[in-house]
Amino acid sequence: MTNKVSVLIVEDDRAISNLMTTTMRTSGYSYHTAATGELAILQAVSQNPDIIILDLGLPDMDGVDIIKKIRTWSQNPIIVVSARSEDKDKIEALDAGADDYITKPFSVEELLARIRVAIRKMHYDTSSQKNDPVFQNGGLRIDYAAGCAYIDGDQVHLTPIEYKLLCLLSRNVGKVLTHNYILKEVWGSVLESDTPSLRVFMATLRKKIEKNPSEPEYIQTHIGVGYRMIRIKGEQDAE
Ligand code: CA
Repeated sequence: MTNKVSVLIVEDDRAISNLMTTTMRTSGYSYHTAATGELAILQAVSQNPDIIILDLGLPDMDGVDIIKKIRTWSQNPIIVVSARSEDKDKIEALDAGADDYITKPFSVEELLARIRVAIRKMHYDTSSQKNDPVFQNGGLRIDYAAGCAYIDGDQVHLTPIEYKLLCLLSRNVGKVLTHNYILKEVWGSVLESDTPSLRVFMATLRKKIEKNPSEPEYIQTHIGVGYRMIRIKGEQDAE
């Protein structure tokens, strides 16, 4: 009987794959590997890994198609790995259902940090809290039924757009949301030219919820990609 977190590593580059498996082994995770998209899907079905690390540049399949396939039966965290030149692919992968991304070259510490974020999300997704009418994350509380948000017990006065933004991020806590996705969900339309106004709304929202908006605790900025609400580690989230 093992309750180790299991990771599926999908990577066709032998050197990177070896680095990842060594990291998994020394950090106490169990893992499987796949070097093609076809094998990745087979492994995802047969092993039902807790977390999938997916290289977007595979020889046989488009990484985005792999994500779409896996998302038909699994909501477990998917972290995509891509080269810096593949920014567009990264955004497509997030919109297809990936939770996070890591850019090559990356450090072992970075990889482990992303896995810890994914584990917190996984625990949150499987906890009863997920469908609560009240969202709690660190000092942030949102009462969806009442339409109110609180920081450390004090009500925060938000405009309707700021509140919608906050709810969208909280309902997807742990997942990176792309600019286009946010624009579509909050404003119902996507114009590239709307991204600057999204930035403005995000800045005013942060001023209201973050202790130090230049070092945000709740909402992370992913430059050129989007935003994510970080799941803050609580007492119930033993790792
Ligand atoms: Ca590759």
